[in-house]
Amino acid sequence: MSSTSSASAPNRRSFLARSAAVAAVPAVAALAGGALAEPASAASLPDYAPIPKSALGPAVNAQGYFVGRVDKNLYWVTDSTYQAAFLTTRDGVVLFDAPPTIGHNLQRAIDEVAAANGVSSKVTHIVYSHHHADHLGASSLFGPNVTRIGHADTRRLLAEENDPARPVPDITFDTRYTLRTGGERIDLAWHGTNHTPDNSYIHFPGHDTLMLVDIVLPRWVPYDSFNLNEDVQGSIAAPATAMAYPWTHFIGGHMGRLGTRDDMTVYQRYVDDIIAGVKKALVAVDPAPFFAKYGDNSWAAVQQYQKAQVDYAAAPVIKKYLGVLAAADVYTASTTFVILESIRLDLGTDSQVHP
Ligand SMILES: [Zn+2]
Repeated sequence: MSSTSSASAPNRRSFLARSAAVAAVPAVAALAGGALAEPASAASLPDYAPIPKSALGPAVNAQGYFVGRVDKNLYWVTDSTYQAAFLTTRDGVVLFDAPPTIGHNLQRAIDEVAAANGVSSKVTHIVYSHHHADHLGASSLFGPNVTRIGHADTRRLLAEENDPARPVPDITFDTRYTLRTGGERIDLAWHGTNHTPDNSYIHFPGHDTLMLVDIVLPRWVPYDSFNLNEDVQGSIAAPATAMAYPWTHFIGGHMGRLGTRDDMTVYQRYVDDIIAGVKKALVAVDPAPFFAKYGDNSWAAVQQYQKAQVDYAAAPVIKKYLGVLAAADVYTASTTFVILESIRLDLGTDSQVHP
């Protein structure tokens, strides 16, 4: 179902999407001690390719959210930048993640669906995908009498971070946990580190759906620097693990739409193309001119040499995916640099032993 007033003006919709996107990065003013250094001038900012229509989801309502059905009694809610999900059951609601940018709209979305279907709108459980504040920072809104479930490392990391907005999970698991409540079944699993050490797979066997957050953002390239993934090789491998599950609907935790198996395949090809480009660049780009130019300034030589490698690897990928994956021209270069470093440092490719 769609939210009650989803036919809002495009300007309102894009404004709200932008506010959520801005909330996702550290506040510049706070970092600068409360004062912005320079007034931004829109005219001097760079231009990028238009976003393909296939990357955009439904319009948000006047309150800034869209809620829709994924399958049967499983729903998703988005502010166009972040996503959460919830399952209505005969005994209450199970919520999956609580992004602070959606915040109080989570309960509004649940109330709307529950009222339309005549079921309880009381959240009884919150399942955590991983410990990051941008996906859990509204957890405390649901009070202390909710059962929170997450990976053992989610509990460990949240205990260290000690953020009152993100209460630690009451129930934890190491590799697998099946949540049975109100006649429903949800399978949680940990298949190794990827985006974070604790990032978990949330499978809905009765709803033909997989939720895996911060790995594949359907029809968008990853956020800056390969989504800041802590384990690069683990993150590259994660989509194949996701594809091994049976599902039709994918909840990626970000942007305004759900994903399909085709979306995940396109994303896998994009990453494979970056890897192939990096491997070519490691051989094709000659370091000599960079070291000749910069002499004893080793960092200047390395910076410019690696920039040339990244440009060599990323340029054909950007060209190929413009119009296919949104923002390919924005973030492909920074992701290519991260993958280049992982190929050098984690895999040892191009490592040479002094004779
Ligand atoms: Zn994250």
